[in-house]
Amino acid sequence: MSMIKTVGLSKSFGDLRVLKDVSLTVEQKEVVCIIGPSGAGKSTYLRSLNRLERIDEGQIYIEDKLLFDCKNGVNSVKMHLDERNRALLEVGMVFQRFNLFPHKTAIENVMMAPVHVRKTPAEEARQKAKVLLERVGLSDKIDAWPSQLSGGQQQRLAIARALAMEPRIMLFDEPTSALDPELVGEVLAVMKQLAAAGMTMLVVTHEIGFAREAADKIVFMFEGAILETGGPDLMFSNPRNDRTRQFLQSVL
Ligand code: ADP
Ligand code: MG
Repeated sequence: MSMIKTVGLSKSFGDLRVLKDVSLTVEQKEVVCIIGPSGAGKSTYLRSLNRLERIDEGQIYIEDKLLFDCKNGVNSVKMHLDERNRALLEVGMVFQRFNLFPHKTAIENVMMAPVHVRKTPAEEARQKAKVLLERVGLSDKIDAWPSQLSGGQQQRLAIARALAMEPRIMLFDEPTSALDPELVGEVLAVMKQLAAAGMTMLVVTHEIGFAREAADKIVFMFEGAILETGGPDLMFSNPRNDRTRQFLQSVL
């Protein structure tokens, strides 16, 4: 079973085509890293998987279920809204900016969606949240406010919050690029741990070290299109495409 599959995704903002026929499959337990220059469409692609952006053309499958089949922005898949929403709950997302609720404590941030969306009883949600906070190394920050946490701690809290919904796929959009350099490692460590535990992950990142170590597959995006895909060893040592080579020279 593939966890995410897109076929021929295209999207424009006005006259600007930001996604051009993007086809990509992420298999179960696979870690796929998307690299590419700023403006390539990486964020738009991730956001379209989570319905934060509408697509114009193409198909989106989650766990082999066709959720969107769009032509001229119109989705022809007939499906009950609840069923589609349930399928989309399988996809968790972590953003560059942590998007925490500032007036909720750490544990409340983690509990909120399970209680309000999944209707998990509060006490059960609290126990699960404690386990997750421990998993991301924040046991001692349970009652802290987001503003009392470092950037690295806030991002680990954001990861715990996404995991609280028990997603089967995690999307990460440059999760470490807003962090001070000394805080990047602690967030990548949590992500590596998650990958090792078998989470399916699609990660936009410029952390080539992380990608080399954790990724099964690297995808190079440029001007809205996937130009090259391959395993990390070959991709980083011997890219076939000149654009990939140029990009890697700029970040390595
Ligand atoms: P990346 O994440 O690879 O840097 P983005 O997906 O953020 O790229 O952006 C791709 C292109 O789409 C850029 O040219 C960007 O300016 C444009 N873009 C992104 N979001 C919007 C929007 N909401 N309205 C108009 N243009 C947008
Ligand atoms: Mg981006």
